[in-house]
Amino acid sequence: MFDLTPYNTFGLHVHSKNGIIINTENDLKTVHEDEIIILGHGSDVLFTDDYDGTVLINKIKSLNITQEGDFFKVKVGSGVILDDLIESLLENKIYGLENLSAIPGTVGAAPIQNVGAYGVEIGDLITEIEAYDLQRHFRETFSHERCEFAYRSSYFKHHCERKLFITSVTFRLFSRFIPKLTYQGLKNLHFKDGAALRARIEKMRSAKLPDPKLIGNAGSFFKNPEIEKEVANKLKEQYPDMPVYPTNEAHLCKLAAGWLIEKAGCRGITHGNVGTWEEQALVIVNRGDAKPNEVVALAQYIIAEVYAKFGILLVPEVRTYGPKGELSWKRM
Ligand SMILES: Cc1cc2nc3c(=O)[nH]c(=O)nc-3n(C[C@H](O)[C@H](O)[C@H](O)COP(=O)(O)OP(=O)(O)OC[C@H]3O[C@@H](n4cnc5c(N)ncnc54)[C@H](O)[C@@H]3O)c2cc1C
Repeated sequence: MFDLTPYNTFGLHVHSKNGIIINTENDLKTVHEDEIIILGHGSDVLFTDDYDGTVLINKIKSLNITQEGDFFKVKVGSGVILDDLIESLLENKIYGLENLSAIPGTVGAAPIQNVGAYGVEIGDLITEIEAYDLQRHFRETFSHERCEFAYRSSYFKHHCERKLFITSVTFRLFSRFIPKLTYQGLKNLHFKDGAALRARIEKMRSAKLPDPKLIGNAGSFFKNPEIEKEVANKLKEQYPDMPVYPTNEAHLCKLAAGWLIEKAGCRGITHGNVGTWEEQALVIVNRGDAKPNEVVALAQYIIAEVYAKFGILLVPEVRTYGPKGELSWKRM
C-alpha cells in the first residue's frame, strides 16, 4: 500500500495500491497500469476512500527561458511548484504570473482547471502544453487553442478518459511589469514592481485562506455558480447585497459561492472533525483527524442548505476520487 497522506492537502489518511514517483518523461514509458491517478501536490483532490490502483506522483522539474523581443518564452517541467516558479521569474524580472502567487500546486495541474485568482487566469499566458498519452505512449503537443481554456476548465478536464499526463507548460511572459489590477481589491493601488504586487497578493490570501500546512484543506471546495442573468436578477430583488459578476457569455453571470454558503448559515460551522473556514465559507477544513466521509457529508449538507435557500445547485471544484477512480457528485 502507498500512503497518500502527504499527497493530499486535506491531510486525509488514505492509501493507494501502488505509487510511482515520476521524475522524467522517460519514467512514463514504463507505466502500463490501467487504473491510474496522476497527482501533483494534491491541493485540489478529495479521496473518499483508499484507491484501488496506481498513483503517479509528478516530480518532473525543468526550466528553459528564451527572450523573444519584449517577451520571454518560458518552458517549465510540469512538476515544478507554481509558486516557486513565480518567485524565481520575478527575481529574473519576468512578469505576468504575479497575481497567481501563493496558489498551491504544480505547474502541470494549473492549466487543467485553468487556475485563476485576482483577475488573472493561467490559460491566458500559456502558449503550448506537452502531454504524454499513457494509453498510446506518445507525446502530444497542444496549442493554446486546443487547450480550450474556460472558467475552471480546459480540454484536459473534459477528456479524462484520455489519460494525458501533462509534462511541460510553455508561457509567454513579459519583460516589463504591467500590473493587472482589474480585481476590485487591487483597483486604484500602485505597485512599484512585481515583487510588491506579489507581496500584496500573499497578504490578501493569507488573511482569507487557511494554510494547508497548518489546517488541511483543498482551497475553494465549490465553483462559483454561473447562472442565467434572468435568475440572478430575480434573486437580486430578494437579496440586494448579493454579489453578481459578469462572465464571457452575455446571458450568464457568476455568483459568489462563498457568499451563498455564508448566507445559508454555513460559515464557520463544525460537524465532527470538519468544518468551513471562518474567514471564507467556500473552504472546507480538516479540523483534526477528519475521515473522508465527514468531508463528503459536510459538502452534501452545504449543497442542500444553499439549494434550499437560493434554489442554486453548488458544484464542487475539487476532483473527487473513490476506490475505482474519479467520482461524479451527481451520483453521490
Ligand atoms: C489553500 C488553497 C488555495 C487555493 N487557491 C486557489 C486559487 O486561488 N485558484 C485556483 O484556481 N485554485 C486554487 N486552489 C486549488 C489548487 O491549488 C489548484 O487547483 C492547483 O492547480 C492544483 O495543483 P496540484 O498540483 O495540487 O494538483 P493535484 O491536486 O495533485 O491534482 C489536481 C487534478 O489535476 C490532475 N493532474 C495533476 N497533475 C497533472 C498532470 N501533470 N497531468 C495531468 N493531470 C494532472 C490530477 O489528476 C487531479 O485531477 C487552492 C488550493 C488550496 C489548498
